[in-house]
Amino acid sequence: MTAPELAPIVEARRATGLQFADVRHAFGDNQVLKGIDLSVGAGEIVCLLGPSGCGKTTLLRLAAGLEILQHGTIEVAGRVVSTAVETIPPEGRRVGLMFQDFALFPHLSVLDNVAFGLRGQPAPSRRQSALKLLERVGLSALASAYPHALSGGEQQRVALVRALAPHPLVMLLDEPFSGLDARLRDQVRDGTLAILKEQGVATLLVTHDAEEALLMADRIALIADGRLIQVGSAEQLYFQPASPFVAGFFGELNRLKGVARGGKVGTPLGIVPCPDQSDGQPVDILVRLEGFHLTDEPQGVAAMIETVRFLGPVHLVQARLEQGAVIRARLQREQSLKPGQRVRLALDPRYAFVFPS
Ligand code: ATP
Repeated sequence: MTAPELAPIVEARRATGLQFADVRHAFGDNQVLKGIDLSVGAGEIVCLLGPSGCGKTTLLRLAAGLEILQHGTIEVAGRVVSTAVETIPPEGRRVGLMFQDFALFPHLSVLDNVAFGLRGQPAPSRRQSALKLLERVGLSALASAYPHALSGGEQQRVALVRALAPHPLVMLLDEPFSGLDARLRDQVRDGTLAILKEQGVATLLVTHDAEEALLMADRIALIADGRLIQVGSAEQLYFQPASPFVAGFFGELNRLKGVARGGKVGTPLGIVPCPDQSDGQPVDILVRLEGFHLTDEPQGVAAMIETVRFLGPVHLVQARLEQGAVIRARLQREQSLKPGQRVRLALDPRYAFVFPS
């Protein structure tokens, strides 16, 4: 390969903030990570999503250098920071950390908390840099306040600024918003996203909340049992799930059975395309609750409403189809619905996924 051909590859490596290659980790006999390959680009937010105990925090701790790597390689901006034989200590990696139980120093003002993140610089310039950062994020009015006088959201923003003060190349966030109430969470989440994007930091955020991942991520990496199951954009994981597990992680599903014929399967909800399934293959058809709407068209499926629950903007409905199958649907609250009412339902096939049984 010639030098000009190599240049884009070198550039791509530089742009990659954080890279895991074949990372494996065990605690005793418990093989927690079984070969993780993942990269997070500069300025990219990747959400590591997965059920409790699947190894998310372990991967973050390995990236931070808080855990010694047993197998594979971790790089920050193209520099190897962990292998099985070599570990650069946490403070030498240019990696920022913020965990759910972030702790501001109670005896230090907001300014001094942020300046603490800049150890290594002379004291006056530390405070000056800290003040500049606080100004950038609109928190300079709080510079002389002490943590006990701040709201939960303000404390969280100060903790983030403290973590960003040393200009990390990579930010690791472990369920950073789970301690906040819903309204504050949205606000702090948006503010945090904006700061991380603006600073071009490669961010790996751990969550077990699928909605949070959909909201925040440029890409989602879904992990289960120590392996990455699917990595892609929110839309890809939601509309093109690689397995029933991925489909089920983003909300409740209706489950139907059928047999593939000519790239399609007949269901009580109509024909669903399944071009990848061979003729005669028994299949499971998984249908998202939000895949239905009411219709007046005769090709809609006749159904009788059995139960209706009010969920604000949508009705959560259980309906019995004429053929006898019972389905659940989230229907826009365009008209009032009552148990016993006869309706016609149309299915948007984008919300139906077919897998071999
Ligand atoms: P959660 O979402 O509940 O925080 P997680 O996906 O972050 O879970 P980890 O905290 O990485 O999961 O833990 C993965 C597995 O490793 C669990 O079975 C856990 O009990 C085990 N584990 C984690 N840390 C240690 C440790 N220091 N010693 C022994 N086992 C550990």
